[in-house]
Amino acid sequence: MAIQNVTVMGAGVMGRGIAYVSALAGFHTTLVDISEKQLQEAYEHAKQTTQKGIKRGKLTDIQAQNLLDNLHTSLHFETTIESADLLIEAVPEKRELKKSVMEMAEEHAPDHTIFASNTSTISPTEIASFTKRPEKVAVMHFFNPVHLMPLVEIVKGLETSEQTVKIIRESAEKMGKETVDVNEFPGFVTSRISAMVGNEAFHMLQEGVATAEDIDKAIRLGLNYPMGPFELGDLVGLDARLNNLKYLHETLGEKFRPAPLLEQYVKAGRLGRKSGKGVYDYTSKGELIK
Ligand code: NAD
Repeated sequence: MAIQNVTVMGAGVMGRGIAYVSALAGFHTTLVDISEKQLQEAYEHAKQTTQKGIKRGKLTDIQAQNLLDNLHTSLHFETTIESADLLIEAVPEKRELKKSVMEMAEEHAPDHTIFASNTSTISPTEIASFTKRPEKVAVMHFFNPVHLMPLVEIVKGLETSEQTVKIIRESAEKMGKETVDVNEFPGFVTSRISAMVGNEAFHMLQEGVATAEDIDKAIRLGLNYPMGPFELGDLVGLDARLNNLKYLHETLGEKFRPAPLLEQYVKAGRLGRKSGKGVYDYTSKGELIK
Protein backbone atom coordinates (compact mmCIF):
# COMPACT_ATOMS: atom_id res chain seq x y z
CA MET A 1 0.00 0.00 0.00
CA ALA A 2 1.38 3.41 -0.96
CA ILE A 3 0.97 6.12 1.64
CA GLN A 4 -0.44 9.35 0.23
CA ASN A 5 -2.42 11.04 3.00
CA VAL A 6 -0.87 11.56 6.43
CA THR A 7 -2.74 12.92 9.45
CA VAL A 8 -0.61 14.25 12.29
CA MET A 9 -2.53 14.62 15.56
CA GLY A 10 -1.14 17.30 17.92
CA ALA A 11 0.55 20.46 16.63
CA GLY A 12 3.02 20.97 19.48
CA VAL A 13 6.80 20.77 19.48
CA MET A 14 6.82 17.36 17.79
CA GLY A 15 3.64 17.29 15.71
CA ARG A 16 4.55 20.46 13.81
CA GLY A 17 8.00 19.05 13.03
CA ILE A 18 6.59 15.72 11.91
CA ALA A 19 4.03 17.47 9.69
CA TYR A 20 6.88 19.52 8.17
CA VAL A 21 9.01 16.50 7.17
CA SER A 22 5.90 14.65 6.00
CA ALA A 23 4.84 17.51 3.72
CA LEU A 24 8.43 17.85 2.47
CA ALA A 25 8.40 14.13 1.60
CA GLY A 26 5.44 14.83 -0.70
CA PHE A 27 2.70 13.36 1.48
CA HIS A 28 -0.59 15.24 1.56
CA THR A 29 -0.36 16.14 5.24
CA THR A 30 -3.04 17.43 7.62
CA LEU A 31 -2.02 18.63 11.05
CA VAL A 32 -4.85 18.44 13.59
CA ASP A 33 -5.13 20.00 17.03
CA ILE A 34 -7.81 21.12 19.47
CA SER A 35 -6.17 24.55 19.59
CA GLU A 36 -6.50 26.99 16.69
CA LYS A 37 -3.58 28.97 18.11
CA GLN A 38 -1.29 25.92 18.04
CA LEU A 39 -2.27 25.25 14.42
CA GLN A 40 -1.58 28.84 13.38
CA GLU A 41 1.79 28.80 15.14
CA ALA A 42 2.65 25.46 13.54
CA TYR A 43 1.92 26.76 10.05
CA GLU A 44 3.93 29.91 10.76
CA HIS A 45 6.76 27.73 12.05
CA ALA A 46 6.69 25.73 8.79
CA LYS A 47 6.87 28.94 6.75
CA GLN A 48 9.81 30.24 8.80
CA THR A 49 11.64 26.91 8.64
CA THR A 50 11.29 26.79 4.85
CA GLN A 51 12.65 30.35 4.62
CA LYS A 52 15.67 29.38 6.73
CA GLY A 53 16.11 26.25 4.59
CA ILE A 54 16.15 28.35 1.41
CA LYS A 55 18.69 30.81 2.89
CA ARG A 56 20.99 27.95 3.89
CA GLY A 57 20.71 26.28 0.50
CA LYS A 58 18.95 23.22 1.96
CA LEU A 59 15.68 23.82 0.08
CA THR A 60 14.82 25.23 -3.32
CA ASP A 61 11.96 27.72 -3.75
CA ILE A 62 9.97 25.01 -5.50
CA GLN A 63 10.51 22.46 -2.71
CA ALA A 64 9.42 25.05 -0.15
CA GLN A 65 6.30 25.91 -2.15
CA ASN A 66 5.43 22.21 -2.61
CA LEU A 67 5.92 21.66 1.10
CA LEU A 68 3.52 24.46 2.00
CA ASP A 69 1.02 23.26 -0.64
CA ASN A 70 1.11 19.78 0.94
CA LEU A 71 0.58 21.07 4.48
CA HIS A 72 -2.95 21.63 5.78
CA THR A 73 -4.36 22.26 9.24
CA SER A 74 -7.67 21.24 10.79
CA LEU A 75 -9.59 21.27 14.05
CA HIS A 76 -11.69 18.32 12.90
CA PHE A 77 -9.98 15.01 13.58
CA GLU A 78 -13.03 12.84 12.79
CA THR A 79 -13.32 14.09 9.20
CA THR A 80 -9.55 14.32 8.56
CA ILE A 81 -8.86 10.75 9.64
CA GLU A 82 -11.49 9.47 7.18
CA SER A 83 -9.03 9.96 4.32
CA ALA A 84 -5.76 9.12 6.12
CA ASP A 85 -3.48 6.26 5.09
CA LEU A 86 -1.16 6.93 8.02
CA LEU A 87 -1.96 8.57 11.36
CA ILE A 88 0.96 9.86 13.44
CA GLU A 89 -0.22 10.73 16.93
CA ALA A 90 1.76 13.40 18.83
CA VAL A 91 -0.51 14.51 21.68
CA PRO A 92 0.97 14.92 25.19
CA GLU A 93 2.46 11.89 26.92
CA LYS A 94 -0.61 10.92 28.93
CA ARG A 95 -1.99 7.42 28.69
CA GLU A 96 -5.65 8.46 28.88
CA LEU A 97 -5.18 11.05 26.14
CA LYS A 98 -3.47 8.56 23.83
CA LYS A 99 -6.32 6.15 24.57
CA SER A 100 -9.03 8.63 23.63
CA VAL A 101 -7.22 9.63 20.41
CA MET A 102 -6.75 6.00 19.36
CA GLU A 103 -10.38 5.13 20.15
CA MET A 104 -11.61 8.09 18.14
CA ALA A 105 -9.28 7.16 15.27
CA GLU A 106 -10.57 3.58 15.32
CA GLU A 107 -14.12 4.83 15.05
CA HIS A 108 -13.52 7.05 12.00
CA ALA A 109 -10.50 5.74 10.08
CA PRO A 110 -10.75 3.39 7.09
CA ASP A 111 -9.67 -0.22 7.69
CA HIS A 112 -6.34 0.17 5.89
CA THR A 113 -5.09 3.15 7.97
CA ILE A 114 -1.89 2.56 9.92
CA PHE A 115 -1.77 4.12 13.41
CA ALA A 116 1.68 5.26 14.55
CA SER A 117 2.34 6.89 17.90
CA ASN A 118 5.21 9.28 18.59
CA THR A 119 5.12 8.33 22.28
CA SER A 120 8.48 8.50 24.05
CA THR A 121 7.77 5.71 26.49
CA ILE A 122 4.37 4.04 26.31
CA SER A 123 4.13 0.44 25.15
CA PRO A 124 2.95 0.00 21.55
CA THR A 125 1.09 -3.15 22.67
CA GLU A 126 -0.88 -1.05 25.15
CA ILE A 127 -1.56 1.65 22.53
CA ALA A 128 -2.67 -1.07 20.08
CA SER A 129 -5.08 -2.43 22.72
CA PHE A 130 -7.05 0.84 22.45
CA THR A 131 -7.90 -0.11 18.83
CA LYS A 132 -9.39 -3.05 16.94
CA ARG A 133 -6.42 -3.24 14.53
CA PRO A 134 -3.39 -4.14 16.67
CA GLU A 135 -1.53 -5.48 13.62
CA LYS A 136 -1.60 -1.94 12.13
CA VAL A 137 -0.26 -0.10 15.22
CA ALA A 138 3.36 0.70 16.13
CA VAL A 139 5.50 3.41 17.68
CA MET A 140 7.22 5.80 15.27
CA HIS A 141 9.48 7.79 17.54
CA PHE A 142 10.89 11.02 16.08
CA PHE A 143 13.39 13.37 17.74
CA ASN A 144 13.42 17.08 18.43
CA PRO A 145 13.92 19.18 16.29
CA VAL A 146 12.34 16.79 13.82
CA HIS A 147 13.58 18.42 10.61
CA LEU A 148 17.20 18.18 11.81
CA MET A 149 17.35 14.91 13.78
CA PRO A 150 18.04 11.95 11.51
CA LEU A 151 16.59 9.05 13.54
CA VAL A 152 13.21 7.36 13.88
CA GLU A 153 12.92 4.48 16.34
CA ILE A 154 10.33 1.91 15.19
CA VAL A 155 8.89 -0.14 18.02
CA LYS A 156 6.64 -3.10 17.32
CA GLY A 157 3.87 -4.18 19.67
CA LEU A 158 3.04 -7.82 20.30
CA GLU A 159 0.75 -8.03 17.28
CA THR A 160 2.27 -5.45 14.92
CA SER A 161 2.64 -7.01 11.46
CA GLU A 162 5.85 -6.97 9.41
CA GLN A 163 3.87 -5.19 6.68
CA THR A 164 3.08 -2.32 9.09
CA VAL A 165 6.75 -2.02 10.08
CA LYS A 166 7.73 -2.00 6.40
CA ILE A 167 5.26 0.78 5.57
CA ILE A 168 6.38 2.88 8.55
CA ARG A 169 10.05 2.34 7.67
CA GLU A 170 9.47 3.36 4.03
CA SER A 171 7.51 6.43 5.11
CA ALA A 172 10.25 7.46 7.56
CA GLU A 173 12.90 6.98 4.87
CA LYS A 174 10.88 9.11 2.47
CA MET A 175 10.90 11.79 5.20
CA GLY A 176 14.71 11.61 5.08
CA LYS A 177 15.17 9.57 8.27
CA GLU A 178 17.28 6.57 9.25
CA THR A 179 15.45 3.95 11.29
CA VAL A 180 16.26 1.41 14.00
CA ASP A 181 14.04 -1.49 15.03
CA VAL A 182 13.61 -1.73 18.77
CA ASN A 183 11.95 -4.47 20.77
CA GLU A 184 9.19 -3.39 23.04
CA PHE A 185 10.37 -2.21 26.43
CA PRO A 186 9.42 0.98 28.30
CA GLY A 187 11.43 3.93 27.06
CA PHE A 188 12.80 2.02 24.04
CA VAL A 189 16.53 2.83 23.65
CA THR A 190 16.74 6.61 23.55
CA SER A 191 14.09 7.83 26.01
CA ARG A 192 15.32 5.44 28.69
CA ILE A 193 18.91 6.67 28.51
CA SER A 194 17.94 10.31 28.06
CA ALA A 195 15.48 10.25 31.00
CA MET A 196 18.10 8.66 33.25
CA VAL A 197 20.78 11.23 32.40
CA GLY A 198 18.35 14.17 32.65
CA ASN A 199 16.99 13.02 36.00
CA GLU A 200 20.48 12.47 37.43
CA ALA A 201 21.41 16.02 36.38
CA PHE A 202 18.43 17.36 38.41
CA HIS A 203 19.51 15.33 41.43
CA MET A 204 23.02 16.82 41.08
CA LEU A 205 21.66 20.36 40.80
CA GLN A 206 19.51 19.78 43.87
CA GLU A 207 22.50 18.40 45.81
CA GLY A 208 24.62 21.43 44.86
CA VAL A 209 27.23 19.39 42.98
CA ALA A 210 27.71 22.25 40.48
CA THR A 211 25.71 25.03 38.81
CA ALA A 212 23.37 24.14 35.92
CA GLU A 213 25.76 25.88 33.50
CA ASP A 214 28.73 23.89 34.75
CA ILE A 215 26.88 20.56 34.71
CA ASP A 216 25.88 21.24 31.10
CA LYS A 217 29.41 22.36 30.19
CA ALA A 218 30.97 19.29 31.83
CA ILE A 219 28.70 16.92 29.92
CA ARG A 220 29.23 18.73 26.60
CA LEU A 221 32.98 19.11 26.80
CA GLY A 222 33.90 16.14 29.01
CA LEU A 223 31.58 13.50 27.58
CA ASN A 224 31.23 14.97 24.10
CA TYR A 225 27.42 15.19 24.16
CA PRO A 226 26.17 17.85 21.70
CA MET A 227 24.00 19.43 24.43
CA GLY A 228 24.03 19.46 28.20
CA PRO A 229 21.17 17.66 30.02
CA PHE A 230 19.49 20.94 31.10
CA GLU A 231 19.78 22.48 27.63
CA LEU A 232 18.19 19.33 26.25
CA GLY A 233 15.52 19.19 28.99
CA ASP A 234 14.50 22.79 28.26
CA LEU A 235 14.29 21.96 24.55
CA VAL A 236 12.28 18.76 25.06
CA GLY A 237 10.01 20.40 27.68
CA LEU A 238 10.38 19.65 31.39
CA ASP A 239 6.73 18.53 31.57
CA ALA A 240 7.38 15.99 28.79
CA ARG A 241 10.52 14.85 30.63
CA LEU A 242 8.59 14.47 33.89
CA ASN A 243 5.77 12.51 32.19
CA ASN A 244 8.38 10.14 30.71
CA LEU A 245 10.03 9.64 34.08
CA LYS A 246 6.71 8.96 35.81
CA TYR A 247 5.94 6.24 33.29
CA LEU A 248 9.43 4.71 33.53
CA HIS A 249 9.23 4.85 37.33
CA GLU A 250 5.92 2.99 37.20
CA THR A 251 7.15 0.37 34.74
CA LEU A 252 10.90 -0.05 35.38
CA GLY A 253 11.13 0.85 39.05
CA GLU A 254 12.76 3.03 41.63
CA LYS A 255 15.82 4.12 39.67
CA PHE A 256 13.53 6.30 37.52
CA ARG A 257 11.79 8.13 40.41
CA PRO A 258 11.60 11.78 39.21
CA ALA A 259 13.92 14.19 41.04
CA PRO A 260 11.90 16.47 43.40
CA LEU A 261 13.49 19.58 41.88
CA LEU A 262 12.21 18.62 38.42
CA GLU A 263 8.69 18.16 39.85
CA GLN A 264 8.97 21.58 41.48
CA TYR A 265 10.01 23.30 38.22
CA VAL A 266 7.02 21.78 36.41
CA LYS A 267 4.65 22.80 39.23
CA ALA A 268 5.97 26.35 38.89
CA GLY A 269 5.19 26.33 35.14
CA ARG A 270 8.89 26.37 34.23
CA LEU A 271 8.52 24.01 31.28
CA GLY A 272 11.55 25.07 29.24
CA ARG A 273 11.82 26.98 25.97
CA LYS A 274 8.13 26.63 25.15
CA SER A 275 7.05 28.49 28.33
CA GLY A 276 9.95 30.99 28.22
CA LYS A 277 11.61 29.63 31.33
CA GLY A 278 12.89 26.24 32.46
CA VAL A 279 16.26 25.62 34.04
CA TYR A 280 17.32 28.67 32.01
CA ASP A 281 15.40 31.83 31.22
CA TYR A 282 14.58 32.56 27.55
CA THR A 283 12.29 35.54 28.04
CA SER A 284 14.61 38.25 26.70
CA LYS A 285 14.12 38.08 22.89
CA GLY A 286 14.76 34.36 22.90
CA GLU A 287 18.19 34.85 24.42
CA LEU A 288 19.42 32.75 27.29
CA ILE A 289 19.59 34.88 30.46
CA LYS A 290 20.61 32.20 33.02
P1 NAD B 1 3.37 19.42 23.24
O1 NAD B 1 2.78 19.64 24.57
O2 NAD B 1 4.39 20.39 22.71
O3 NAD B 1 2.20 19.36 22.13
C1 NAD B 1 1.06 18.58 22.26
C2 NAD B 1 -0.04 19.15 21.34
O4 NAD B 1 -1.17 18.27 21.44
C3 NAD B 1 -0.52 20.54 21.73
O5 NAD B 1 -0.52 21.36 20.58
C4 NAD B 1 -1.93 20.31 22.25
O6 NAD B 1 -2.80 21.41 21.97
C5 NAD B 1 -2.33 19.09 21.47
N1 NAD B 1 -3.41 18.32 22.08
C6 NAD B 1 -3.66 18.10 23.39
N2 NAD B 1 -4.74 17.32 23.53
C7 NAD B 1 -5.16 17.05 22.28
C8 NAD B 1 -6.24 16.30 21.74
N3 NAD B 1 -7.09 15.67 22.54
N4 NAD B 1 -6.37 16.25 20.42
C9 NAD B 1 -5.50 16.89 19.60
N5 NAD B 1 -4.46 17.61 20.03
C10 NAD B 1 -4.31 17.68 21.35
O7 NAD B 1 3.93 17.92 23.25
P2 NAD B 1 5.22 17.33 22.47
O8 NAD B 1 6.44 17.67 23.21
O9 NAD B 1 5.08 17.68 21.02
O10 NAD B 1 4.98 15.76 22.70
C11 NAD B 1 4.04 15.03 21.93
C12 NAD B 1 4.42 13.56 22.00
O11 NAD B 1 5.72 13.37 21.43
C13 NAD B 1 4.48 12.99 23.41
O12 NAD B 1 4.02 11.68 23.39
C14 NAD B 1 5.97 13.05 23.73
O13 NAD B 1 6.35 12.09 24.69
C15 NAD B 1 6.55 12.70 22.37
N6 NAD B 1 7.93 13.16 22.13
C16 NAD B 1 8.34 14.39 22.54
C17 NAD B 1 9.64 14.81 22.27
C18 NAD B 1 10.10 16.19 22.65
O14 NAD B 1 11.30 16.47 22.51
N7 NAD B 1 9.23 17.08 23.11
C19 NAD B 1 10.52 13.95 21.59
C20 NAD B 1 10.06 12.71 21.16
C21 NAD B 1 8.76 12.32 21.42
